[in-house]
Order: sequence, then C-alpha cells, then structure tokens
Amino acid sequence: MRIDVLTVFPEVFTPLNASIMKRAQEKKCVSFYLWNLRDFANNAYKQVDDAPFGGGRGMVLQCEPIFRGLQEIRKHNQTGYVILTSPQGELFNQEIACKLAEKPGLIFVCGHYEGVDERVITICDQELSIGDYILTGGELPTMVIIDTVVRLLPGVLPEGATDKESFAKGLLDWPCYTRPAEFQGMKVPEVLLSGDHAAVERWRQQQAEERTKQRRPDLYQKYLQRKKESTQ
Ligand code: SAM
Repeated sequence: MRIDVLTVFPEVFTPLNASIMKRAQEKKCVSFYLWNLRDFANNAYKQVDDAPFGGGRGMVLQCEPIFRGLQEIRKHNQTGYVILTSPQGELFNQEIACKLAEKPGLIFVCGHYEGVDERVITICDQELSIGDYILTGGELPTMVIIDTVVRLLPGVLPEGATDKESFAKGLLDWPCYTRPAEFQGMKVPEVLLSGDHAAVERWRQQQAEERTKQRRPDLYQKYLQRKKESTQ
C-alpha cells in the first residue's frame, strides 16, 4: 500500500522509522511519502495559513495549497482514499481501520492551527477524528491511523497475529503474564501453568468476556448482540 501525507510538519513522522512501521517498509508491504504543504504555497514566505473570515482567534490552513498539494499527490497515488483528520470527523475505530486496510492507497491531509478551510472537505473521502479531545495538529492522529492500519496489512505481522487482539472480535484482550510465576506474592493463575491448552483457551475467553462486561459495557452489549445474530 502507498500512503501519502500532506502536512506542515513532516518532521513529526519519525515513528514511521521505528518498530513495525519500519519493518513493514523493509518488507515492501507499505511505502510512506511525506509532502510539505509549504512547498505548495504561492508566496515567497511559504505561508499556507491566513486569518479566518468573520474574525476570531487563530489561523486557518488555506484551501489553495491543499488543493495544489493533493493534485500533485494524485499523480503518484491515483486511487488513494483521502482522509482529513478533524475533531469533527467520524470517530476512528478498529472496524474503520479494517476497511482502510483494504483500500488500494491512502492520502492524509493534516489540519493545523484552528483547522482547515471548509472547502477542503469537498476533495476528501472521509473526515476522521481519533477521539473527543483537541490535539495541536493532524500529524499525531494521522500517525495513529497509519499505525493501526499498517499492522493489519498482509505480511506485516505473522498470520493471525491480530485476530485475537482487543476489538478484533468485539472483546477486550485477556490478562497476560510472563516469568516469574510468582512476584512479590502475586501468583500467575494456575491454569496458565497447567499445559492444558483447551483449559487455557476457555479461561482466556471467559476473562476477555468478563473484562469487557466490567470495563466496556457498550462493547459487551454489541458483542452479545452479534453473537445472538450469528446463532439465529
Ligand atoms: N478549532 C478546531 C476545533 O475546535 O475543532 C481544532 C483545531 S486543532 C487545534 C488543529 C488540527 O488538529 C485539526 O484541524 C485536525 O486536523 C487536528 N486534530 C486535533 N484534534 C484532533 C482529533 N481529536 N482527531 C483528529 N484530528 C484532530
């Protein structure tokens, strides 16, 4: 998959060069292209923002450089699905990540300052928010979405590695332990040391369900609903 990012701060994207994102590039599962919005400014100062019409605080990213930038990116990523990061967007989740992982390519537009000129929405396929809070810019939300999507791409992680993670089947993950078996009086549950794989599987499923019920009743209700529908 090809992923392009249009941003005023390309230097924020250092996490793309570490851990799984780095390996995904080495394995040729994904390629990232960072585009500096200032390169599409039409003035000597490379200014890409201006004061909002109607007055008020802050600066707004202008539509012209974004339109020009996207036009250039389109030459390299013709079928890329365009995402605008925005607190007013649809709330990003694992289900949306799975859909994005099936797109032929992705193109991100990162807002900054007070946001982007509303007309930019006309050339975007989807507006996505990563949560009900305000970040300085769309760079970190874009990083979050990229990381979530790329680990779902074929070949990035071992086969089946993401199948049992939190949210994959509508539940939170079960509790994990590693050595030592006892630490400061806290013991690892017996069943995990038993070598009985079927019993371990049952315990994990029951723990995942219990946790989801306790911590995320909203998810648990959906899980029960889906389970009911699949048995009808
Ligand atoms: N004035 C905007 C508002 O009140 O909704 C906030 C603008 S924010 C400081 C600047 C940019 O950061 C946004 O245009 C968007 O691209 C990005 N951003 C901030 N919070 C975000 C979130 N929760 N999800 C996605 N993008 C976000």
